[in-house]
Amino acid sequence: MRGSLSRLVFVGAALTVGCVAPRPQGAEGATAHYEVRTDDPDPELTRQVVRVAEQVHATLARDYGAEPAGELPLIVYRQRANFDRELAPSLKDRGFVGQFGEGYVLVYWPDDVSGKETLAHELVHRFNAALAPDLPYWLDEGLAKALAPKRAHGDWLAALADMSDDELRERIRSLGALPAGEDYALRCLVAAGVARFALDAEEIKTVRELRGYKADAARFIRWLRRRRVAHPDRFPSVLGSEPGSG
Ligand SMILES: [Zn+2]
Repeated sequence: MRGSLSRLVFVGAALTVGCVAPRPQGAEGATAHYEVRTDDPDPELTRQVVRVAEQVHATLARDYGAEPAGELPLIVYRQRANFDRELAPSLKDRGFVGQFGEGYVLVYWPDDVSGKETLAHELVHRFNAALAPDLPYWLDEGLAKALAPKRAHGDWLAALADMSDDELRERIRSLGALPAGEDYALRCLVAAGVARFALDAEEIKTVRELRGYKADAARFIRWLRRRRVAHPDRFPSVLGSEPGSG
């Protein structure tokens, strides 16, 4: 497990930044909820981003029982160098592939699978910021990971299955300190597991009801140990199982 954790890619971070959204010199497009700007002159990327953003938005609007107001700029980069130029200085050189700030979302989109996953992750942060603004960091990040899981990186179920009950309890105790402290990536996976537990096992109708949520470690561990395959009935991955999504 340690080997794969060391290869974890940080998916994103919620930051407070200025509201002047970058304007890369590629194709652009707009929907009812998003203004898409890319660094790719081929309009196909813009079409894809528009489609994914609207699909994820519709699912999150149902999950949260509401939707944020206004049009959010989505700035999408094919080229890593272009993305890195706009990424917050504190996130540079840490493997981040997305960022949500107050005014816009940045997404590195090297291919459709990772691009979609990063976009979905950042849109969960956006819904949290707008509709559950007082969520603690661990639950904001945990929900983004639980609702928009990455296929290639950071499977919380696999990571947590390898941990002893004592280690899990200790990690859960330390979630409130995030993002500070050691083992950031691993503790974010624990946060994702707890968020998935809350979504699946608690009596909630919308994600917003998790504001102020406190995890019961003993119940969580019992749930985790019985669970071998992810089959959520409610609040499944916002990416669904789209045909052709790879
Ligand atoms: Zn995140």
